[in-house]
Amino acid sequence: MSEEPDTPRTRMARLMLALRSQGVTDPRVLAAIEKTPRELFTPDLFKDRSWEDSALPIACGQTISQPFIVGLMTQALTLEPRARVLEIGTGSGYQTAILSRLARLVYTVERYRTLLREAEDRFKTLGLTNVVTKFGDGGEGWAEQAPFDRILVTAAAPEEPKTLLEQLKPNGVLVAPIGKGPVQSLRRYAGDGQGGFKVELLGDVRFVPLLDGVAREL
Ligand code: SAH
Repeated sequence: MSEEPDTPRTRMARLMLALRSQGVTDPRVLAAIEKTPRELFTPDLFKDRSWEDSALPIACGQTISQPFIVGLMTQALTLEPRARVLEIGTGSGYQTAILSRLARLVYTVERYRTLLREAEDRFKTLGLTNVVTKFGDGGEGWAEQAPFDRILVTAAAPEEPKTLLEQLKPNGVLVAPIGKGPVQSLRRYAGDGQGGFKVELLGDVRFVPLLDGVAREL
C-alpha cells in the first residue's frame, strides 16, 4: 500500500473504500462523490488534503464537511431523481454539488455572501444548472419554494428545526445535526403522511452552529 503512487486517482480510490467500509454503500451516492472534484472546493492551503476523509477549514471560519459525513447524510436522504431539495448552509458548495447530481433541483441558502459567491462560481465551472442559491437565514427555510421533498441542514440546529419541518412535504425526509454543544446528534425525520414524523438517530457528528440572521461581514 505504501508503495502505491499517491496520485489523485489512488487517493480518491482509497477514500471510496473508506466510505464503503463505514457504511456508505448506495452506488448512486458513491458515484456522485467520485464524480465531484473536491479539490475545486478546498482552499489553496489544503488542496493536497482534498481527498482525505476529514473536514477542512474554508473562508469565514466555516468548514467543508468530511466526505464520510457527506456520504452518510446524502444516503440518509434517500433521494429520487425527481426530488426538489432544500439545503441549509451552502458553505463551499461541495455537498450542494453532490445533491445536484442526484436530485432534480437543489435550493441552497447561505448566510455569508462571500461563501455563496464562491460556491456559485464553482457550480458554473462544473456546469451544474439545477442549483438555485439564496443569501439569507436558512433557519427560516425558503417559504416561497416550499414544500420540499427533502431538506438537508449542514449546520447544527440547537433544537428540532420546526420552521424547516413545516416546509417539508407530508412524506418528505429531513436530515439535520441537532444539539447545542460541540458534538451533535445526526437525526433523520421521515414524514408519516399525516403531519407526524418518525425520528431516527444516525450517530454523533461535529458541525459548526446554525446561527440566527445573516452575517454582517462579507
Ligand atoms: N455543506 C457545506 C458545509 C458548510 S459548514 C460544505 O459542503 O462545504 C455550514 C455552513 O452553514 C456554513 O457555511 C455557515 O455559514 C452556514 N450557516 C450557518 N448558519 C446558517 C443560517 N442560519 N443560514 C444559512 N447558512 C448558515
